[in-house]
Amino acid sequence: MSTFQDLGLNNDLLQAITDLGFIKPSEVQQKAIPILLESETDLVALAQTGTGKTAAFGFPMLEKIDIDSRTTQGLILSPTRELCLQIANEMKAYGKYCKGLNVVAVYGGSSITDQARDIKRGAQIIVATPGRMKDMISRRMVDISKIQYAVLDEADEMLNMGFKEDITDILSHTPEDKNTWLFSATMPREVATIAKKFMHNPQEITVGNKNESTTNVSHEYYLVNARDRYQALKRLSDANPDIFSVIFCRTKRDTQKVAEQLIEDGYSAGALHGDLSQNQRDLVMKSFRNQQIQMLVATDVAARGIDVDDITHVINYQLPDEAETYTHRSGRTGRAGKTGISMVIVSKSEVRKIKSIERIIKRDFVKKEIPDGASICEVQLMSLANKIHNTEINHEIDKHLSSINELFADTDKDELIKKFFSVEFTRFFNYYNKSKNLNIAEGSYDRDGGREGGRDFGGKSSDSTRYFINVGSKDGFDWMKLKDFLKEQLELGRDDVFKVEVKESFSFFNTENDAKEKVLAFFTDFKHEGRFVNVEVSENRGGGGRRNDRRGGGGKRSGGRRDDKKGGFGNRSDRRRSEGSSSKPRRSDSGGDSGGGNFSRPRRSRR
Ligand code: ADP
Ligand code: MG
Repeated sequence: MSTFQDLGLNNDLLQAITDLGFIKPSEVQQKAIPILLESETDLVALAQTGTGKTAAFGFPMLEKIDIDSRTTQGLILSPTRELCLQIANEMKAYGKYCKGLNVVAVYGGSSITDQARDIKRGAQIIVATPGRMKDMISRRMVDISKIQYAVLDEADEMLNMGFKEDITDILSHTPEDKNTWLFSATMPREVATIAKKFMHNPQEITVGNKNESTTNVSHEYYLVNARDRYQALKRLSDANPDIFSVIFCRTKRDTQKVAEQLIEDGYSAGALHGDLSQNQRDLVMKSFRNQQIQMLVATDVAARGIDVDDITHVINYQLPDEAETYTHRSGRTGRAGKTGISMVIVSKSEVRKIKSIERIIKRDFVKKEIPDGASICEVQLMSLANKIHNTEINHEIDKHLSSINELFADTDKDELIKKFFSVEFTRFFNYYNKSKNLNIAEGSYDRDGGREGGRDFGGKSSDSTRYFINVGSKDGFDWMKLKDFLKEQLELGRDDVFKVEVKESFSFFNTENDAKEKVLAFFTDFKHEGRFVNVEVSENRGGGGRRNDRRGGGGKRSGGRRDDKKGGFGNRSDRRRSEGSSSKPRRSDSGGDSGGGNFSRPRRSRR
């Protein structure tokens, strides 16, 4: 079966499919649509992101519901508000010729009464986030007791996000004899459990290998010192003047910081994470979709499943906690038959994670070098030349031409070109002039195994920093409580705080060196139960600090700490110095810094 006609869809849908420009059903559509149309069955469908899962359940649902009835017959649960809106819009586009169709999206952060009113008008299909759906059920704003089709979209992610109980609760309000269709990119144990619990003899389809990444995406990694992460990000972006990318960070804090820093440095960037208001998130997504923003810095949760065309690069500013998450990240690019690049910036202590990811996605990474200043300058220069070459002439200039010509009467063509390009190029050149090599030599780490007993996903670190903190058992902490407290405050993952040792009035703990900036920055001015909590790099090596302790921490407590701030997010002049423009005075320095951005940045925002 190779056309949508063959799959047995009705004319209203076929017409919409033609309008959408879909020519051939994707593999998951070819497999799922006939099954769902022909039988009343439960279904588990596994397919990587970007394979067209929405249409795989969307078309059959539209085909099967009774549009003349105003009863709610289809319920689609999806993890985030962005996905909810995306799915609802897709469903509306698929059903644009289905007269009387009403698809309503319900999600948190928007007026619940407005949403309830839209449903009351008669919504055959509701697309909902689990939290809001549960809320509406308990307030009797929605009746899902007659639904015939329930879809769990991005089921793995919903479970990751802790929606298991909400989903259980919601499904308990639906009829026993409905059909449940579960769509997921990966099949972790939790998803299998859900399938078992809520579904009756589900048919199963799998497209590609589970967790496998699309072949359209190439995977690259760049090995740098943790403190050079941000500089590396800038260079990767500058070396790709037409980049249109999603940059993934691990925490909301880092996401916000990286985005702010990029904006300050003149890039067209925006942040997307759960601490922003709905309004802010909508605005950022809208600008990104319109390509007014070139770099979307996002958390995994906020960016999950987002379908924006033509993303050229995914940049893993930090690797995710779970190797599986990498599949979702890289799936943001290389969509709809296009190619894309997924880049990972790693420090030594993380480089082993690359191996685990390779195993999971069944693709090899290529180790690449962060480009040096000279090659970035060249790329930018040629990109500018091309842009000028392709620019349409604005004839408003014509009337000024004679005065301009007069000014340049004695300038020959080469000289004119050089002058013209220097306007932009010099700032850029100054910024990268004498910039240092950010790459770490390949031989200086051991990629395949435990020379230093290194850290894999969930393992323990060798490149770790030990800290002193001035709270202890007299403040009610034992090691578990302190570990939980630190993890929560610092928004760190399960195993990121370790070797926690609690004394009476103070304690020690370790993190990876990578987290040092963050830990120290966080505990500047931090108060707990009314008193200042002080964290400093410790010289105490007894609690498992290895030779790296000394290198990482250095000096006396306070002295070590001041040094550590260099190259961090908080201090512009230090940061700039680290890219080799130290001799310049502050003011012009600032021009030089953002010059790296301005040179290339406005191209998309001006579209
Ligand atoms: P998934 O849910 O699997 O991540 P989506 O349903 O979001 O994927 O689809 C990804 C993109 O592909 C969307 O922009 C969608 O409109 C488009 N698409 C879906 N099916 C087809 C098709 N048969 N032909 C062309 N484009 C399609
Ligand atoms: Mg999807």
